[in-house]
Amino acid sequence: MKVLVLNSGSSSIKYQLLGMENENCIAKGLVDKIGFDESNISYKNQAGYKNKYTAVVKDHLSGIKVILDILMDKENGVINSIEDIAAVGHRMAHGARYFKDSVLVTEDVKEKIVKACEIAPLHNPPQYKGILAIEKVMPGIPNVVCFDTEFHKGIPDYISTYGLPYEWLEKYDIRKYGFHGLSYKYVTRRVGEMFNIDWKKLKIIACHLGNGASVAAVKHGETVDTTMGFTPLQGLIMGTRCGDIDPAIVPYIMKREGYDVDEISDVLNKKSGVLGVSGISSDFRDLEEAASKGDERSRLALEMFIYRVKFYIGAYNAVLNGIDVLIFTGGIGENSTRMRQAICQNLGDLGIIIDLEKNDFKGKERVISPLNNKVKVVVIPTNEELMIARDVKRIIS
Ligand code: ADP
Repeated sequence: MKVLVLNSGSSSIKYQLLGMENENCIAKGLVDKIGFDESNISYKNQAGYKNKYTAVVKDHLSGIKVILDILMDKENGVINSIEDIAAVGHRMAHGARYFKDSVLVTEDVKEKIVKACEIAPLHNPPQYKGILAIEKVMPGIPNVVCFDTEFHKGIPDYISTYGLPYEWLEKYDIRKYGFHGLSYKYVTRRVGEMFNIDWKKLKIIACHLGNGASVAAVKHGETVDTTMGFTPLQGLIMGTRCGDIDPAIVPYIMKREGYDVDEISDVLNKKSGVLGVSGISSDFRDLEEAASKGDERSRLALEMFIYRVKFYIGAYNAVLNGIDVLIFTGGIGENSTRMRQAICQNLGDLGIIIDLEKNDFKGKERVISPLNNKVKVVVIPTNEELMIARDVKRIIS
């Protein structure tokens, strides 16, 4: 059984075709800068063939057609026709209160997704566009949608409720949902496999550190708390998102700068975080390089990021009354030796110690705490696509 997994962003579609017999990646790639003058298209298949080129891709529907053409290419494709694909899995950030599990897309589900788009206007609509595009080009194929909020459904009410008028919870579902759930689902299960122990017996802090970044406290298979909230804007300082701030800053700046709601939302989501502080980049490679050459604002941005991650590791240690495992994942967590080292520095009293030699690598699965250390510190490259494909298989079977 072959499952196509799509992760659609506002101007990009990440895709992966998985063979579910061995859970292997048959082909994957990205269509980026959709709607721009020139879009970037990349493709890699399991035989080792790689290709990158530019073309005009005006919208998500055209993007899906490009992806299917690449997959069916006579020379370097991996399928003969679209009938070879059993189903399509879509990542969706926000399930709102409607979805507690992945689900087969029906008309009723689509209505609820549209409602969920209201509370996640930046994240859900492009992912919904991906579903509509597949319905057009692959009519009759089952679409399954998987939510990043699902993993966090067990957060207790005294943690998920904000200190705001209770009617807002009742009327508008304003509460903490949490995100990166597909990534947390993969890494928490994987860590159980690595240590040959039921993952549900573990107390885990997982740090998903990518462009979007969050930390989750997971105890006995349930999220207790996580740093993202009603939207993925809360919590850590991220690439371009502000994370936790004093909410009073928002009306103050709106008045001073004359911003409307869309403008302030744009600044908080796309022009803040380490980009806003450094004024240089949201990419940690650029910031690490600039800081090493003495750029003060890049140093400040990195220190702020490190502090906030440490802060939540400390808080969640208290919440969980100690942990068994600390996991790093996401682009920064998987690749940045320097960030992992800085985050774990001086956490010895919490049992969190890393071996600097073991930590000196990138992009692989590895235990980086000393042998026999009580708290295992592990790096696990995430695999959200596999989590989606497994749910697709479960639901269509
Ligand atoms: P997304 O949230 O878009 O999926 P990723 O998980 O791919 O993001 O993470 C992207 C981030 O990972 C970028 O900030 C990038 O700088 C960072 N990153 C990737 N490789 C490295 C590296 N070798 N050193 C430091 N940061 C890295």
